[in-house]
Amino acid sequence: MARFEENCEILESDELGRYLVAKRDLARGQQILVEQPIVVGPYWDSGIRCLNCFRNSCTICRKCKRAPLCFDCTTHNETECEFYLNSGLNINFLFDHFNVVTPVRCLLLASSNRAKFDEMMTMEAHTEERRDTDIWNAHEKKVVRPLLENKAFDGKMENLKVTSELIQRICGFFDVNSFEIRGNMDDAQQEESLIRGLYPKAALMAHNCVSNTLISVDGDANLRLYVTTPVKKGEMLFYNYTRSLFGTFERRTHLKLGKYFVCTCSRCEDPTELGTHLSSVKCTGCDDGLCSYYAEENKWRCNKCAKELEETYVNNVLSDARKDAFECANNIDELERVIAKHSETLHPCNSIILELKQSLAGEIRNLCLFSPPSKVTEKLLLRKFHLCQEMLTILRVLEPGISRLTGIALYEYHVALWDLARKKFENKVIFVKELLEELAKAEGGLKESISMLLFEHPSTPEGQLTKRAMRDLKDLREEIKQTQAIVPEIKNGQKVVKVN
Ligand SMILES: [Zn+2]
Ligand SMILES: [Zn+2]
Ligand SMILES: [Zn+2]
Ligand SMILES: [Zn+2]
Repeated sequence: MARFEENCEILESDELGRYLVAKRDLARGQQILVEQPIVVGPYWDSGIRCLNCFRNSCTICRKCKRAPLCFDCTTHNETECEFYLNSGLNINFLFDHFNVVTPVRCLLLASSNRAKFDEMMTMEAHTEERRDTDIWNAHEKKVVRPLLENKAFDGKMENLKVTSELIQRICGFFDVNSFEIRGNMDDAQQEESLIRGLYPKAALMAHNCVSNTLISVDGDANLRLYVTTPVKKGEMLFYNYTRSLFGTFERRTHLKLGKYFVCTCSRCEDPTELGTHLSSVKCTGCDDGLCSYYAEENKWRCNKCAKELEETYVNNVLSDARKDAFECANNIDELERVIAKHSETLHPCNSIILELKQSLAGEIRNLCLFSPPSKVTEKLLLRKFHLCQEMLTILRVLEPGISRLTGIALYEYHVALWDLARKKFENKVIFVKELLEELAKAEGGLKESISMLLFEHPSTPEGQLTKRAMRDLKDLREEIKQTQAIVPEIKNGQKVVKVN
């Protein structure tokens, strides 16, 4: 079991605030923290949910007569129920102001669990940066005023003065620090019923666009933190609070708007984004040059001929591509057309193109799953295989070590390899020896995929994929065995490489 105090140390600096470093050498895959949330609650844009399980609500609590509940739940948190029972609030209050649910839970901690409340109050809320912004005003309207104007807390909290500043700060804790809770895949409503939780220890990690940790949260809201690459004693533990496959501009914007800082990690400071060129555009002055953005000089410059591109040209090229990508229908021909069109001006791994390619790979996968094999051509399977290879190359750089995205990409890579090898064998392009070699490669990819997805809890979509991957591994090994068995039938006595 992970002992947080043995693995991690909390340090503090003016620049970073509080942050985590490794207290000893940590091995790849090592679990360093298991944490229960202080509070869980729905996202701000959630519909009315059962306060006990967050599924769709269809009734109310018989005791407090205010809390929405679902068919299966008859109670919710006792302190919360008592609070609403004695609140004097209108019966419809929570239906009219559902956004107050989570902040109320946080405030109630002051009397039900003061230690947790105090721990929460050490978290970062970025109150000054948020003051009078859109999100601040939204909280003012949907949380602060309903609670204060309806005197929800008046005379009910002995040791706490509930002010608008305090409520705003609590809303800030959630906006800045919360982690998504997934899971309960058996539930058909899963997609909509995402909730989030406050985990003060995990939230201590500083951000880096190339992280060295992985977080896995199960359906019971337990958060587990793993190290994805070896971390030496004294090195910082990082989490990526934005998306790896966003380009630098999108990542920085996302972090600035949602987390209130400008990232200066090595990836953000490198115009080529560690050589992936996720934001690069093609040079108009030479054949194979790539132009990247040099922030200090505010210039787009070619890595081959040093030509500088006009900012308006780059902006036009990017916004054209974004517009087409947004409007593009999800079918193979259309996606290929838009990819080809914008690959003329953008790097083939520009994040906009990469996203289109992911959609394309998904469409080819659907075709393979739902069409008769005769409809799926070798050319199409080869295309998917190359898309998977390209994605893996990028992910190995941006998410080194254990990675959820790499695990998923490796799964798709093994499927592509397996399907393609079968098709080539059917078409007599390859024979048993090559088929076995390809199947062995697919097995290698699948095993690596499983080694990365094993960290996912079975109740999450990735956990479900892990189960499927294990079944596939069994099937693949069986197919390899059967293929090996037909070897003696081959004429000319060709010797087959033994595959384990
Ligand atoms: Zn329920
Ligand atoms: Zn109740
Ligand atoms: Zn960064
Ligand atoms: Zn050039």
